[in-house]
Amino acid sequence: MRLILLGAPGAGKGTVAKRLTAVDGSVQISTGDILRGAVRDGTELGKKADAFMKAGDLVPDELIMGIMGERLLEEDCSKGFLLDGFPRTIPQAKELKVLLEKLNITLDFAVNLDVPRDVILDRLTTRRTCSNSECQAIYNIKSMPSKVDGVCDKCGSPTIQRDDETEEAISKRLDTYEEKTAPLAKFYEEEGLLLSVNATSSDAVVEAITSKL
Ligand code: ADP
Ligand code: ZN
Repeated sequence: MRLILLGAPGAGKGTVAKRLTAVDGSVQISTGDILRGAVRDGTELGKKADAFMKAGDLVPDELIMGIMGERLLEEDCSKGFLLDGFPRTIPQAKELKVLLEKLNITLDFAVNLDVPRDVILDRLTTRRTCSNSECQAIYNIKSMPSKVDGVCDKCGSPTIQRDDETEEAISKRLDTYEEKTAPLAKFYEEEGLLLSVNATSSDAVVEAITSKL
């Protein structure tokens, strides 16, 4: 499958993407994960992206398009891909459209994960992520705790709160989302590609997607 996952931070794009990879071997491509990896490794890209990310701002479109232009050419994309956190702005969506046409790739659809803002805020402040870059399992201290508090079930590494998961950065990310990313739903609706789903439960989202494919 070839999908775009749209939705606010904390809507569950990552969780849904991970489940969908198990369905048919499509790869999850998360620009957030790629950027955090680059920051950790101290690459040129990471140095450029770091301050934007810490502040809860978007990384400039040119940097993101550079990453994705290369990523979509990699071999593992041939089985399909789940774009998680990209595109994030109208210019990114327009450039992606051109890029996919050039590569002769057609999307199945863009899924909009619709979640009320109070649910989002609650999820983000209670979210914990495995600190092991190879694992990055996601937990929630209220709804999906690890078996041992602060320790990843899958790999035993510490689970942590991300740098951009402070109250201040979260509220900035949500404002940025409303302003820059929410308009993408309309963009994909006009393209005839939008599937909007109530995303209060990720099971329901996975079900809605697989039944529509
Ligand atoms: P979120 O939980 O906010 O959806 P992500 O892991 O997708 O988080 O992204 C974390 C940060 O990485 C964003 O706040 C932003 O700074 C940057 N980022 C990720 N994807 C993009 C993108 N497509 N365009 C611009 N910035 C991005
Ligand atoms: Zn882990």
